[in-house]
Amino acid sequence: MADRYLSFTGTAPGRFLTRRLGLPQPAALRRWSAERPVLDGGLLHLTAGTSKLDLAPVLARAGLGADSGRPAAVVLDATGVRDVAGLAEVHAALHPVVRSVTASGRVVVLGAPPDPADHHRAAAQQALEGFTRSLGKEIGRGRTVNLVRLTDAAAAESTLHFLLSPKSAYVSGQVIEVGAGAAGTDGAGGAAAAADPDRPLAGRTALVTGAARGIGEAVAGTLARDGARVVVLDVPQAEADARRLADRLGGTALLLDVTAADAGERIAGALPGGLDVLVHNAGITRDRRLVNMPADRWSSVLDVNLASVLRTTDALLAAGTLRPGGRIVATASIAGIAGNAGQTNYGASKAGVVGLVRSLAPRALAEHGVTVNAVAPGFIETRMTAAVPLFIREAGRRMNSLAQGGLPADVAETTAWLAHPASGAVNGQVVRVCGQSLLGA
Ligand code: NAD
Repeated sequence: MADRYLSFTGTAPGRFLTRRLGLPQPAALRRWSAERPVLDGGLLHLTAGTSKLDLAPVLARAGLGADSGRPAAVVLDATGVRDVAGLAEVHAALHPVVRSVTASGRVVVLGAPPDPADHHRAAAQQALEGFTRSLGKEIGRGRTVNLVRLTDAAAAESTLHFLLSPKSAYVSGQVIEVGAGAAGTDGAGGAAAAADPDRPLAGRTALVTGAARGIGEAVAGTLARDGARVVVLDVPQAEADARRLADRLGGTALLLDVTAADAGERIAGALPGGLDVLVHNAGITRDRRLVNMPADRWSSVLDVNLASVLRTTDALLAAGTLRPGGRIVATASIAGIAGNAGQTNYGASKAGVVGLVRSLAPRALAEHGVTVNAVAPGFIETRMTAAVPLFIREAGRRMNSLAQGGLPADVAETTAWLAHPASGAVNGQVVRVCGQSLLGA
């Protein structure tokens, strides 16, 4: 369902009227396209405190113009901020430039991991989180602000490139931790360069559940764009759509219900050559307030959204189907973080996904060389959200820093970043794709 308000505010009379009435001013977000440069404008690299990061080569490879015009991206390296006085340098660095950042531009703040041995440093570094989230809420014009905690710039290369590019159009106000280690076979530092940077997943196999439509369809398309051989999994009732998509992407369709007790074995059986990227996207809602919710609505949501994710993950790890260097990306939701009236079943299932990711991630990496992360979409324009009553739908669209819903492509690009061979140091993260939704912010 088209966002008519966004189209209206894109016209001169619409802008005039909505400004006069003090209504939200969503900017048309710039999204990735093969034909356009990464961003229109330059990259400004600023530092607060004394940094030990070797950022310059990583930023040089980001594909951003280094022209001296208005910055399209600002990277503030604040890893060296050790105390409150150091925070003044954060203000001094960004205060003069933030106004000049182009529409749909990017601000990425770099911080250090929490320091249990130095509470002054920990306080100053934690302050960056409140700073980032606050700037994200006020910056406007489709611009995003995110914080990356890191110790090794090379290990964070895929993350920085994602956050600086239009691929992260709907990701704002996020705090992402990047470890120093790499997963599996990708080499030290997690910065393994793909043979072809435009097709980083070439030679890899990806399976996306619930891929016949909506977000899953976009994820399958994006992973195929990045070179993966894609397996489109959906229920037998979605056969026509699943086969059409698989044909278009040069992949294969796998028709099964993920809640089947033997779903994991059947997936493993269909992938004798192994699997590199597993995207748990299939999900359902059966909304009712708890007082009106029969047990079957509860259990069906818990089974599709959580129990099947646990079962198939366990089965595919145990069978060795997921190869070292593999990636698991599960789909949570901001409803699982903030809660949502009428969604006790859905909120529970999606919070369960977060629990699964945080617990399994370190073990899966140590034992199988596989990373485990989650995307947590906010309001995404799909058939699922088109079915939401008008008033709630409008609230969902506007109640975020970008004042609009996201697109399936936004979740797909985030998944592709997590699936990237160079993202081996990103593990156990739950990344919201929500335009910095006010829900659970
Ligand atoms: P959708 O309803 O458009 O598509 C879901 C797909 O999953 C369908 O093709 C469906 O056939 C498939 N599916 C459902 N049950 C299945 C089963 N048992 N086995 C195999 N396939 C099954 O949904 P969507 O909006 O694209 O959402 C995709 C994921 O993103 C879900 O996990 C959803 O909870 C999550 N999510 C969506 C939003 C949003 O705003 N749309 C927000 C937060 C989270």
